[in-house]
Amino acid sequence: MKIAILPGDGIGPEIVAQAVKVLNVLGESFELETAPVGGAGYAAHGHPLPEATLALAKAADAVLFGAVGDYQYDNLERSLRPEQAILGLRKQLGLFANLRPAILYPELAGASTLKPEVVSGLDILIIRELTGDIYFGQPRGVRECPDGPFKGQREGFDTMRYAEGEIRRIARVAFQAAQKRDKRLTSVDKANVLETFQFWKDIVIDVHKEYPDVALEHMYVDNAAMQLVRAPKKFDVIVTGNMFGDILSDAAAMLTGSIGMLPSASLDANNKGLYEPSHGSAPDIAGKGIANPLATILSAAMMLRFSLNKPEQADRIENAVKAVLAQGLRTGDIYEAGTTKVGTEEMGNAVVKALV
Ligand code: NAD
Repeated sequence: MKIAILPGDGIGPEIVAQAVKVLNVLGESFELETAPVGGAGYAAHGHPLPEATLALAKAADAVLFGAVGDYQYDNLERSLRPEQAILGLRKQLGLFANLRPAILYPELAGASTLKPEVVSGLDILIIRELTGDIYFGQPRGVRECPDGPFKGQREGFDTMRYAEGEIRRIARVAFQAAQKRDKRLTSVDKANVLETFQFWKDIVIDVHKEYPDVALEHMYVDNAAMQLVRAPKKFDVIVTGNMFGDILSDAAAMLTGSIGMLPSASLDANNKGLYEPSHGSAPDIAGKGIANPLATILSAAMMLRFSLNKPEQADRIENAVKAVLAQGLRTGDIYEAGTTKVGTEEMGNAVVKALV
C-alpha cells in the first residue's frame, strides 16, 4: 500500500514526522513517498501543487497531509498561494466527504472552555460536504448591482447550489457512518430561508428510505450552532453542506479544548482519502518544536481505518494516544497545572512507546 506524505509548511513537517514515525513501527509494509506541497511546493517548483505531487497523490492509496500556508506567500496572486494546494487536491481527487470527529478525552475535560459536565465524554462526528455549495457555485464575482436600492453600485455575489446527486452521495456517507455508531443522524440545513437547503432536506429524507435503521432529524443551522454549545452530547453524526460545515466543525473543535487534537478525513466515492489535522500551519509556533502532533497521528489512524482497511492498527494508535494522555503528557496547547509539558518530538516518541 502506497501512502503519499505531503508535509507542507509551518508546523506541517514537524507534526507529519511524528505520524510517519508511528506508521513505521506498526509492522506493516507501507510504501511512504514524500513530496512538497503548498509554500514548499511553490519554493521547489513554482506551484503550490506541483505536477509530480499531484501525480503521487493520485497514484497513492491514501494521502497524509500536514498543513499549508505561510505569511511570506500572502502577497502571491491567489492561484499561487499555498492554500490553493488543498483546494486543488480535494477537487482533483474528488474528495467530497469531510469527516471530522470531535472527541473529548476525559483527561482533557478541563481544557474545554465549556463546563466538564457538558462536554466530558463527547464523541460526535461532523460530516461536511466539501466540493459544492456557495464555495464553488458559479457565477460569482463583483459586478454592477442590477436592481434594488443599491442599483448601479458595485456588488459582490456568489451562487449557492447543490445538485441532487451531490446531496445523495454525501447523505449516504453520513447514513453509513451513523450505522457504525449510535445510528442517529442530524441533517443541518436552512430550509426555512434557502431554496437550496429545502431541496437538500427533501433529498436527505428520500435517501433515509435506504437506511431505516438510522434515526434522522433535521435542524436549522442557527439552532445547531446553539445546541453544539448548549448540549453537544445529544448529537451522534451531523451532516451538512460546505459552508455550514466549515463553521460548525470549527465550533465543535473548540468543544474539545484544542484544535491540536482533531484529525480529519476527506474521502472520495471509493474511500480513498486525504487525511490531515483540522488545524492550519500555525506559523506562529513553527520550528519551535512545541506543536501538538496528536491530531496528525490520529489522522493517520483514520487513514488506516477508512482507506487502508486496517481497523485494528487504527485502534492501536488511538489507544496509544489515550495512554500518553493518561500518563499526563501534554504539549503546550493542552497543558494544565499538574501535568508534564512535552515538545512535539517527545510526544511522538511517547506514542510510539505506548503502542502495544
Ligand atoms: P492555525 O490553525 O494554523 O492556527 C491557529 C492557532 O492554533 C495558532 O495560535 C496556532 O499556534 C494554534 N495551533 C494550530 N495547530 C496547533 C498544534 N498542532 N499545536 C499547537 N497549537 C496549534 O490557523 P491560522 O493561524 O488561522 O492559519 C495559519 C495558516 O494556516 C494560514 O496560512 C492559513 O491559510 C493556513 N491554514 C491551512 C489549513 C490547511 O492546510 N488545511 C487549514 C487552516 C489554515
